[in-house]
Amino acid sequence: MAKSGGCMFKIGYFFYTRTRVGLIYHRREIAKARQKFPDGHSVVQVKHVGDIRVIPVPMLEDNYSYIITDKNDVTVVIDPGDPDPVLKELRERELTPSAILNTHKHWDHSGGNSLMKENFHKIPIYGGATDNIANVTHSVNDGDVLEFGSMKFTAKCTPGHTEGHVIYILSGGDQNADSIFSGDQLFPCRVWSYV
Ligand SMILES: [Zn+2]
Repeated sequence: MAKSGGCMFKIGYFFYTRTRVGLIYHRREIAKARQKFPDGHSVVQVKHVGDIRVIPVPMLEDNYSYIITDKNDVTVVIDPGDPDPVLKELRERELTPSAILNTHKHWDHSGGNSLMKENFHKIPIYGGATDNIANVTHSVNDGDVLEFGSMKFTAKCTPGHTEGHVIYILSGGDQNADSIFSGDQLFPCRVWSYV
């Protein structure tokens, strides 16, 4: 494997992030993961934070997308890298998303944007202003507040993993803790840097 920062890595990374080669590679990764984990890589539990539900959706070999709803079922999807398990979960729970939030441009976080858009016409897709994410319709900058139903997300720019990486902090209000959706800015015990 090419070393991060090396010439071969830079060329490979350029093709991965800037061309359809990256999307083709991503789709192969999805197919491989589906063979290995036909029912998803883990069984996860829905988390309740006051009236808000956070539904983790396992995808690929170790990624998660998140479906978040308020008490009136206003729904937001974060990082639909593989759209199929997200669409299945939405269908089974009879939810229609009002928005998609992307943390960064890598296909394993944003590769499902186009299919989500096909399924939910005119859905707004948010992402970091400098991250060049495919299919984003609304750019976000540091400190932007996004409100959907009773859910309030604050975007924080966290360059490092990618130049335009953004994390979203979901307010817990007066009664509950905030929740953070950190994309690839935090990993357990390892650091990847692809600026
Ligand atoms: Zn990433």
